[in-house]
Amino acid sequence: MTDNIHAKVLILGSGPAGLTAGIYAARANLNPLMVSGLQPGGQMTITTDVENYPGFAETIQGPWLMEEMQNQARKVGTTFVSDLIVSVDFSSRPFLCTGDTGTVYSGDTVIVSTGATARWLGLDSEEKFKGFGVSACATCDGFFYRGKKVCVIGGGNTAVEEAIYLTNHAEAVTLIHRRDELRAEMILQDRLMANPKITVIWDSVLQEVIGDDKPLGVTGARIANVKTSEQTVLEFDGVFIAIGHNPNTEIFAGILDMDDEGYLITQADVTATNIPGVFAAGDVQDKIFRQAVTAAGTGCMAAIEAEKFLAAATSADRRSAAE
Ligand code: FAD
Ligand code: NAP
Repeated sequence: MTDNIHAKVLILGSGPAGLTAGIYAARANLNPLMVSGLQPGGQMTITTDVENYPGFAETIQGPWLMEEMQNQARKVGTTFVSDLIVSVDFSSRPFLCTGDTGTVYSGDTVIVSTGATARWLGLDSEEKFKGFGVSACATCDGFFYRGKKVCVIGGGNTAVEEAIYLTNHAEAVTLIHRRDELRAEMILQDRLMANPKITVIWDSVLQEVIGDDKPLGVTGARIANVKTSEQTVLEFDGVFIAIGHNPNTEIFAGILDMDDEGYLITQADVTATNIPGVFAAGDVQDKIFRQAVTAAGTGCMAAIEAEKFLAAATSADRRSAAE
């Protein structure tokens, strides 16, 4: 038999956006239900130092911050379920979301805060060595490269932070970026350039991860200079891909409006999607700022909008009952 769980506010995803929505919806007595997904706490759980989340003068740790947000959301009345939504039916209310466990969650409103997932280059060799020397998470896998040589691909905040973090373990870190300037914040760039263990290779792309079959493992990388087309083979024990993230929106294709890159489209100044009663918050609808604090901010907005939507729907129901 299929389980059915109903909530006035159903929140999909438990990163900063979803958890903040949970805090606000719970404090509005809406008893929100949060489906956590495969990464409880979201992307911040795979980073270490967080220095830009307001309220903390000292550096805090990403996993700790998310645990505190979870505790806060739970304390004020958010219920958590561990499941992954695999399909949704938003054609009528209540909205239906089916979990991987077979449970069907229904919501009078839904807040989509499914965030984003690391992007890969799409090389066959990258796929072959994933988990065997190719990684998208330095904080998860950096430990395995104690005293070794690694490279990081990318030029954004994540790539620079990962390169710096990897110097805690690796003997040498090479950052390989496709342009001649970084996208990362200046403070991170300064730290990168000042780190004696880090070398930057500009204007270059990864063409192939090179490695052994038995045992399966990375031994190097073939890179190409995009200006001169010159190819070079360098020795590495690990390759970290840090080229950004894709929004987790596959299950909403054809249902919620999204742009060419798959980001959900919300109406100006609010978190409303094209379906009244369905709201979107955080990285899933934000390709510009993509910060924990902005995700939390839009999570707050979504909860307040859900509350207003429910109040308006209740008034409309009362009016039609009276007629
Ligand atoms: P996410 O954090 O991506 O959370 C998405 C949630 O949705 C997860 O819980 C996931 O399990 C869930 N989910 C996904 N699909 C489903 C589904 N189908 N069903 C149910 N649940 C689902 N920002 C900062 O402000 N400061 C930093 O120092 C910082 N450092 C970062 C370091 C790294 C390495 C990375 C990758 C990002 C960093 N960011 C930082 C960015 C920040 O983590 C994100 O902007 C923020 O986490 C976005 O929050 P979110 O709630 O929108 O989504
Ligand atoms: P990002 O800002 O989108 O940067 C992605 C980087 O990868 C860019 O330098 C890009 O190059 C490069 N890239 C993309 N596709 C590539 C490809 N196919 N081949 C080679 N290089 C490629 O992504 P991010 O660094 O993951 O950051 C995501 C968001 O999280 C950002 O908003 C960021 O500010 C935030 N974040 C914040 C912090 C922090 O506040 N400390 C830490 C981490 C992340 P180009 O520059 O040439 O486009």
